[in-house]
Amino acid sequence: MNTMSQEHGSSGQPKNYNNLTTADLAERAVIRGEGKFASNGAIVVETGARTGRSPKDRFIVDEPSTSESIDWGNVNLPITPEVFEHLWDRVQVHLGETETYTSNLHVGADPEHYLPIEVTTQYAWHSLFGRSMFIDPEHYNPHNKEIWQVVNAPLFQCEPERDGTHSDGTVMINFAQRKVLIAGMRYAGEMKKSMFSVQNFLLPEKDVLPMHCSANMGAAEDVTLFFGLSGTGKTTLSADPSRLLIGDDEHGWGKGTVFNLEGGCYAKCIDLTRKNEPVIFDAIRFGAIVENVVIDENRDPDYTDSSLTENTRACYPRSNIEEKVPENRAGEPSNIIFLTCDVSGVIPPVSLLLSLIHI
Ligand code: MN
Repeated sequence: MNTMSQEHGSSGQPKNYNNLTTADLAERAVIRGEGKFASNGAIVVETGARTGRSPKDRFIVDEPSTSESIDWGNVNLPITPEVFEHLWDRVQVHLGETETYTSNLHVGADPEHYLPIEVTTQYAWHSLFGRSMFIDPEHYNPHNKEIWQVVNAPLFQCEPERDGTHSDGTVMINFAQRKVLIAGMRYAGEMKKSMFSVQNFLLPEKDVLPMHCSANMGAAEDVTLFFGLSGTGKTTLSADPSRLLIGDDEHGWGKGTVFNLEGGCYAKCIDLTRKNEPVIFDAIRFGAIVENVVIDENRDPDYTDSSLTENTRACYPRSNIEEKVPENRAGEPSNIIFLTCDVSGVIPPVSLLLSLIHI
């Protein structure tokens, strides 16, 4: 992957591209050998050894302004500001030697509670992922907000002894400097989940509940939320062809509103069929990225093939879906559904725990 073709700017340095379009990024991803076009127009990539998130490699910088408010432990691992600073600088030097792609995006579809972010990646496909999963706004508007920087350098190999990491890859969140550093990792889900962690910390202070749930809306503008662990069906149920999608994974609930934190979906695609999940199946076309899905000699994806991983994924922007709420937000929910995977059959298939529906 280090031998991929590079274009150089007038200074002789590798170029940094700003806010490239979907077509440009897709084309570059393929030309650079990062992935291949599948027959449906999506780009197929492999993420190497990591085919899911690496929670043991995620750190939060322990610094005075947030230290007291963070629940340190196995989930929130501390790292010192010095360790972060040194690694950040090393990654910046490394990125100066390769092509990079920068996009200006938003996290959050709420006019008040969005965060402006600047996402810089080394892979064109990671840039495309960022443009799809974060919100590519009509007008990027940092306004009087502070901009978060997200950097993703998959070709940077961390050395635990030198860099203070647990392995060759890491995700570090720095609240004081508003930076997210991802290094040595190709699995793209780290990009969206790191900014979700950031919003999980910031939104409650603004009286907004960050939620790991999907959301859709019916014809009567009734909003339903689906909560559940990974694999319980949040994405599938939110993509109900008879309802309009808001989002499949991350939302905020503020006064009078449920809004999507994201601009796209990240669906599991093991055993995906058009018959069972038509909205998702048809959204996997040009502009989409499929991770670790095997393609056959005709470049047709084989969604039944789990030889690379069970956690095969498709990322697509909401613009690939017709049946959606255009504003990417709606009113407060009238139904909340908790999806469970109850292997011992203790809970009946459908249990009414609570109804907020006004009769
Ligand atoms: Mn999720």
